[in-house]
Amino acid sequence: MTNEELKNSLLMAPKNGYTTLTADQRAEMEAYCKRYMAFMDACKTEREATTWAAAEAEKRGFVPAVPGMEIKPGDKIYMNNRGKAIILAVIGTEPLSAGSNICAAHVDSPRADLKPNPLYEDSEIAYFKTHYYGGIKKYQWVTVPLALHGVVYRKDGSVITVTVGEDDSDPVLMISDLLIHLSGDQMQKTASQVITGEQLNVILGTEPLAGEGSDLVKLHIMKLLNEKYGLIESDFLSAELTIVPAGKAREVGLDRSLIGAYGHDDRVCAYAELEALWSIGTPAKTAVCILADKEEIGSVGISGMQSEAFEYFMGILCDGQGVNLYECFANSFCLSADVSNAFDPNFAETCDRRNNSKLNYGVAIFKYTGSRGKGGASDASAEAMGHIRTTFDNAGVLWQIGTLGKVDQGGGGTVAAYMANRNIVTVDAGVPVLSMHAPMELVSKLDCYHTLLACKAIYLA
Ligand code: MN
Ligand code: MN
Repeated sequence: MTNEELKNSLLMAPKNGYTTLTADQRAEMEAYCKRYMAFMDACKTEREATTWAAAEAEKRGFVPAVPGMEIKPGDKIYMNNRGKAIILAVIGTEPLSAGSNICAAHVDSPRADLKPNPLYEDSEIAYFKTHYYGGIKKYQWVTVPLALHGVVYRKDGSVITVTVGEDDSDPVLMISDLLIHLSGDQMQKTASQVITGEQLNVILGTEPLAGEGSDLVKLHIMKLLNEKYGLIESDFLSAELTIVPAGKAREVGLDRSLIGAYGHDDRVCAYAELEALWSIGTPAKTAVCILADKEEIGSVGISGMQSEAFEYFMGILCDGQGVNLYECFANSFCLSADVSNAFDPNFAETCDRRNNSKLNYGVAIFKYTGSRGKGGASDASAEAMGHIRTTFDNAGVLWQIGTLGKVDQGGGGTVAAYMANRNIVTVDAGVPVLSMHAPMELVSKLDCYHTLLACKAIYLA
């Protein structure tokens, strides 16, 4: 054998996905990405994504889970977890004792939540005070158009939905930065101090109400909120209002090969899971699609992946077949579908190029995440990695290896560890992202498309 032949038979030779993309696949990819972008425009918070998914599921015959219900192959069942997370299942022909195939993504993204007493006036400018949610570079969130999304539980018990800044006729909001001319001191600070958390104050208005009094700009804003939404100031306490980047998802690049949007992490995997679930018919094993909340702050709380809401839902399914929940978990597989760091040549020194995912090389499989010696990772076994690799290969899914940066460079986690803690074999895989957690993140259309194929392959494994 020549060295060339040896090389071809022994060594990996990853190829850019465009070299193997067929014309049919390209058409599917473009159509899929259009639908994904529409989803992104409609859903910027976990609540919006949950509401959207529940409505789409009902259109497709999914019904809410009810304790005591009978469960048979082909049934489509979902649980809306208090409007903030959703789990959907298509019951397989095999009993749940044979396990389920789970894809788990999250639908919360980093942002700036309003404080419980947010509205104030300073120097005749009205502001909202915020407390950021998830990991952000705070300096990225100033001088960009922002929108207000959320719900308010009013004093009278009614709940109203608020969205300002998305319609073309809406105003947007903004956080100011210091002009460069006076930034001598600011420019000497470290990036984490250039804009502090307490400076993430959102400008709401500047026009005082006519007449006598103090804080008349604040009062004007409160009056506007009262006229439009019936709000009084104490209603902010029983609200979940959040500041997110305003605007729609956009094609990026002269070749339109990328999609720029707020919150690809992790709605890009959530959407792939949903479309895959719609397409599988009745699978052999029960397919379970999870869209979780609170991943960005540790998967805690009632709607996070550590919550027993998952056991509650799966328990209803297992009870419906007289199956033991623990047996179902022990035989289940979970794809923790979350985004990864795409290699960025601008910051090459932060990554190990041989082990980092790249744009257009397909869904990135992670054996482990975590930080400082894999701390906090679920660290999938050789067998689990073998299963996912074979499953993807057999289904024609383009995949690549991923790791989150150089050793000791930083790190991060996903829901994987919490699924594995349940005695469910779990592997991380997802779409590589540039500028993760920035107000605008970038993904490649090709990787989005192969993540759709990846979710489908897992459900049908
Ligand atoms: Mn994520
Ligand atoms: Mn994240």
